[in-house]
Amino acid sequence: MDDCIFCKILEKKIPSQRVVETPEFVAFKDVNPQAPNHILIVPRRHIPTVNDLTEGDKILIGEMVLQAQSIAKDLGISEEGYRLVLNCNRGAGQTVFHLHLHLLAGRPFSWPPG
Ligand code: 5GP
Ligand code: ZN
Repeated sequence: MDDCIFCKILEKKIPSQRVVETPEFVAFKDVNPQAPNHILIVPRRHIPTVNDLTEGDKILIGEMVLQAQSIAKDLGISEEGYRLVLNCNRGAGQTVFHLHLHLLAGRPFSWPPG
């Protein structure tokens, strides 16, 4: 997608601090972190929102969560805890319309979120 900032990051047209790369995903640090650890797990395929997922994406979504689990382990935050967030559409705060899973850790989190 020509106007998608995450597609440009994936194509390395915009720099990012990459944490992990797989054939399916790239994980990079959020440019405006909301916690000491704030990583975005982004599928290489341009999927705008959770609403665009289909039955065929079951494995992709499962792998996204397992990727987050693996990154949390590498960061040493598995036991302390971390929050995984998928924002869907503007009402939930989505600002980049290329599916991404937020991995947040390193500070206390309240529930319910604000
Ligand atoms: P959303 O609000 O759509 O769920 O999250 C989008 C996230 O992407 C935000 O946390 C924002 O800080 C991050 N972001 C937006 N533009 C860039 C960028 O150019 N580089 C990086 N690394 N993160 C970005
Ligand atoms: Zn995109």
